[in-house]
Amino acid sequence: MKLYLVPTPIGNLDDITLRAVNVLKSVDAILAEDTRTSGFLLKHLQISKPLQSYHIFNEHQTVQRVIAQLKAGKTLALVSDAGTPAISDPGFLLVRECIKNDIPVECLPGPTAFVPALINSGLPADRFTFEGFLPHKKGRQTRLTELADETRTMVFYESPHRLVKSLTQFAEIFGPDRPASVSRELTKLFEETVRGSIQEIITYFAEKTIKGELVIVVQGKS
Ligand code: SAM
Repeated sequence: MKLYLVPTPIGNLDDITLRAVNVLKSVDAILAEDTRTSGFLLKHLQISKPLQSYHIFNEHQTVQRVIAQLKAGKTLALVSDAGTPAISDPGFLLVRECIKNDIPVECLPGPTAFVPALINSGLPADRFTFEGFLPHKKGRQTRLTELADETRTMVFYESPHRLVKSLTQFAEIFGPDRPASVSRELTKLFEETVRGSIQEIITYFAEKTIKGELVIVVQGKS
């Protein structure tokens, strides 16, 4: 009886750890955010295991079914599409429920996007706040206002089509001269990190068609 949270690559498939492979080989079944995406990875790793769907849209309903399997003695692994489960991905509810039910939980260390983005930024990494995705509408302005006086480095996940809009809002709240960075396509062929003031980064991306996944890092207030 145990739940493993197993990080999977955020791009480069070589980033899977040996322990992640061994755990995926050892469990009774794998809970996957998207069974098709995880199916490709498992095929690449030559692992054949039953896959069960576990995504954000059914998380509340599925948790109790998963807890019942764990209580029946099964060992399960939770994976997300990319990176570490429960980091801007499903997982938190299940971990909380396992703890409530005295079911052992173990998260393996492994790929996640915010750590390389933070380090690549060159901004202070001794203290930072991970903000994940900002709310799209309701609560967005409140969240940003709360961060106006934040002194720690801030890390945000963002989609490419919202990048310039978000950076423009950041320029209003934090000031256009605040140092920042955008890391795009981490671990992939076209990986890049753009560093500069928020305004310089807006100028860099404004005329471009922005593709791929990205992380924004903003220095805290000095
Ligand atoms: N669980 C993942 C993790 O541990 O990082 C995060 C999943 S979240 C749904 C997806 C977001 O993570 C993307 O919108 C982007 O902000 C970030 N991300 C994931 N892979 C990335 C990559 N290769 N390069 C840059 N950002 C990435």
